[in-house]
Amino acid sequence: MTVTALALTSCGGASRSETPWIVDRFDDIKVIRYEVPGFEQLPLEEKELIYYLAEATKCGRDIMFDQNFKYNLAVRRTLETVYENYEGDRTTAEWKALEKYLKKVWFANGIHHHYSNDKFVPEFTEGYLLDVIETIPEEKFGELNPLRGEVCKAIFDASLYKTRLNQTAGEDLIATSSNNYYEGVTQAEVEKFYADMADPHDPEPISYGLNSKLVKEDGVVRERVWKIGGMYSPAIEKIVYWLEKAQAVAAEPQKSNIAALISYYKTGDLREFDRYNIGWVKDTVSNVDFVNGFIEDYGDPLGRKASWEGIVDFMDKEACHRTEVISENAQWFEDNSPVDPRFRKPHVKGVSAKVVDGITLAGATYPATPIGINLPNADWIRRDYGSQSVTIANITHAYDYAAQESPKSTLTEFAYDQAEIDAYKQYGSYTDEIHTDLHECLGHGSGQLLPGVSSTALGEYQSTLEEARADLFGLYYMADPKLVELGIMPNAEAYKPAYSNYIRNGLFVQFTRVELGKQNTEAHMQNRKLIAEWCYEKGAARGIIEKKMRDGKTYFVVNDYEALRGLFSELLAEIQRIKSEGDYAAGKNLVETYAVNIDPQLHKEVLERYAALNLKPYGGFVNPDIVPVEKDGKVVDYKIVYVDNYLQQQLDYGKKYRTL
Ligand code: ZN
Repeated sequence: MTVTALALTSCGGASRSETPWIVDRFDDIKVIRYEVPGFEQLPLEEKELIYYLAEATKCGRDIMFDQNFKYNLAVRRTLETVYENYEGDRTTAEWKALEKYLKKVWFANGIHHHYSNDKFVPEFTEGYLLDVIETIPEEKFGELNPLRGEVCKAIFDASLYKTRLNQTAGEDLIATSSNNYYEGVTQAEVEKFYADMADPHDPEPISYGLNSKLVKEDGVVRERVWKIGGMYSPAIEKIVYWLEKAQAVAAEPQKSNIAALISYYKTGDLREFDRYNIGWVKDTVSNVDFVNGFIEDYGDPLGRKASWEGIVDFMDKEACHRTEVISENAQWFEDNSPVDPRFRKPHVKGVSAKVVDGITLAGATYPATPIGINLPNADWIRRDYGSQSVTIANITHAYDYAAQESPKSTLTEFAYDQAEIDAYKQYGSYTDEIHTDLHECLGHGSGQLLPGVSSTALGEYQSTLEEARADLFGLYYMADPKLVELGIMPNAEAYKPAYSNYIRNGLFVQFTRVELGKQNTEAHMQNRKLIAEWCYEKGAARGIIEKKMRDGKTYFVVNDYEALRGLFSELLAEIQRIKSEGDYAAGKNLVETYAVNIDPQLHKEVLERYAALNLKPYGGFVNPDIVPVEKDGKVVDYKIVYVDNYLQQQLDYGKKYRTL
């Protein structure tokens, strides 16, 4: 599973570089660079391991293009050749349109939009492209035989290959989807093929179909397995070449895990992949980590075939240390919480979260990148061995910095004045992270049910109230002097911008994600609205949160932070009581009164103001380069070189990591 950044509304940060974060903008996309702060301090052996894993990662990127659509590589390479060799006028509108189209193809790993899955059509003509190709010597294209017949039609004929993922029930999802996971087979044939293979009584079922294309040849349906000696062999051979180097320098248990992965790539045996995943989920000691393989099945309408992806990352020591400190003090937080002592846990255990920094992305995670992963995906492994949930901190930060860098942002639009904006830029993003840590590491685990109360007593209101309880626990404690004492909060003021942001978001800004006229239904969004709305109402007489109008625009401003903390503590005590006693009626009343209905006037206003910001909704990344430093013919170090040219990185990758 991946966690995407589309839902992010926060921004701000602890430390930041002055170099621009956004390196390119086109269409509905912005391309961002990310920094890897702790790399320099790593021991040489870990840098070496990262370097090999990163090469293995980049060698897989061509697979993803081919999986998305059978002509993607031909389209991309033809356009890359054109881009590098055209000597005509590069200032015309048509050339600019060609450049934009090529940037989009790179971003989507093909000619279908990375998010909507719909084919995008160029803003230049077929005639223009053919004229440009005519001016370039044929040998430049090598064996490409540029864009003859079908390939050209695929680009320009809007009625062909409309989507790579059709999910319309009732249609043949295989025949109408133009991904490259199937060829010549109908949905019924696919379903029968895998139904025949499955053993419904196997407690450890094999993920049949995960690493193969299903084709019909001479009337026979069969799999073309992605492995050495099978489909994608040239790319997988190179991946394995680098993985073997990584294996040689890795320490146990990672060394054995890499060996299992190599064995899987060599044999295509999915039992080997399971073995690798079990080893991976049990490994909690390796500082350097990676994903490399056929992982997520979102691109297959039947959810069986996995796209290739790669991520290399290592532990974010500072963030991991923070969650450890919080967890170690879990009992103190529990004993001092504002809830009735009967509802506190006598013995509580904090959870520590795994936070990493990414250093190389490829395949399905590049350029568009998740901010977290939760693996492995096989249900039986999750059941028997658990899973690892990983947050990629530096990617989250880069998204935040980029959002602030845009001339307009939700922060500048919805914060009341410059002081509020500045305060948020100084502490906001960091303190939002602290809030998440408190929510995840302590909030959910705190409190106890009274004897005889069922854990499902709150019924359909359970998830919203549970999220509210965890959020309130975090909100209450982030303003506590204990956090400054533990060295987690920088000072006694730093929580304030996070409070302002929480209220602004809960009462107003978050509804940019709800269609006009619809109710607020998602549990996390309901929880935020519940808390913000309840505090707004309870504090109205004292003016704790004030609704202000300026130039016809609405703002919500926190006037008294300490009093707001008092309200958070009151509501936390009440929601804990509701949970501990299983008071369904009171829980229902809270949610129905405060969490569901959006004021239509405010909703309309927030949507209009958001639309006027004209933000690029999709973000993706350039990777930094990892460069070996040699002395007397020996590698003595590895350096990070930041790249700020999306176009150049794509052209370079196209040549250097050509594997298919
Ligand atoms: Zn939660």
